[in-house]
Amino acid sequence: MAVRVIGIIGAGTMGNGIAQLAAQNGFDVVMRDIEDDLVQDGLDTIERNLQEAEERDIIDEADVVFERITGTTELKDVTENASFIIEAVSEDMDLKQEIFKELDTEANSDVVLGSNTSSLSITEIASVTDNPERVLGTHFFNPPVKMKLVELITGHNTSSETVEQAEKLATDFGRESIVVDDFPGFATSRLGLVLGMEAARMVQEGVASPEDIDTAMELGYNHPMGPLKLGDYNGWDTRVKVGEYLAEELGSEVYRPPQIVKKMVRAGDYGVKTGEGFYNWDEEK
Ligand code: NAD
Repeated sequence: MAVRVIGIIGAGTMGNGIAQLAAQNGFDVVMRDIEDDLVQDGLDTIERNLQEAEERDIIDEADVVFERITGTTELKDVTENASFIIEAVSEDMDLKQEIFKELDTEANSDVVLGSNTSSLSITEIASVTDNPERVLGTHFFNPPVKMKLVELITGHNTSSETVEQAEKLATDFGRESIVVDDFPGFATSRLGLVLGMEAARMVQEGVASPEDIDTAMELGYNHPMGPLKLGDYNGWDTRVKVGEYLAEELGSEVYRPPQIVKKMVRAGDYGVKTGEGFYNWDEEK
């Protein structure tokens, strides 16, 4: 079945970014969040980003692209229209399982169900469904319109047809995909989290300032963005959840968030999305 409409569950950082990417590549999108103002925030972010992209000649006709996206608080608007659904809610197993159970009941059996989880087990998410063969990880990166990779994660029961459909979608989105087995942290977060948490630990120990640690990795190791700035973009609230999960699952303390990060998150300083993290982002909010 040709995919025309993409369903997105969650209008936050990743949900609205994936919605924008899909619309920029000609797909219609139905994006769902739980409250009207959260849906509106997501739509406002997309509209702003599209206008900026038009001003920079990255896209033509931002308003035409924006019109392809519909926001809703009703799950049925997604399940009745979309033939590929991507879940991008907070990194929480119970929440994701609850959503996948509902999606599996409501969506036609030929609809693919992807999760944007950064670390959680796809097999465990799919275990609450009656059709685990149509569930896989579709891990986009932040911001989805700029980052070229989609990491596809196969759960224990994911079918090869499901993987093929996801590979096609990634190509249609102009992304490159890799296929990774369901193992904690997959191929990306497992490495990325170590760097982020260790950099935060170095700030805590007074080794150097956040700016100097980021400069060290940008200029000394040729990373396009230092690990602390990257964590500010990702959101330390999500990073803490992923770090705690990987520390338990992989039995390694290198993933454990240091106190400096936990304190920031307890204070509500998540990074770019709240305006404050290791850096001040008031102008980008
Ligand atoms: P976020 O907190 O910015 O957004 C999550 C959104 O989901 C919120 O708007 C919330 O209201 C909504 N939500 C909660 N319950 C819902 C429900 N039942 N139905 C619909 N919406 C619901 O989180 P995020 O940073 O966008 O992360 C989303 C997922 O993507 C997580 O699994 C995360 O690990 C993963 N991820 C994040 C990044 C990143 O850089 N932020 C990168 C890759 C993957």
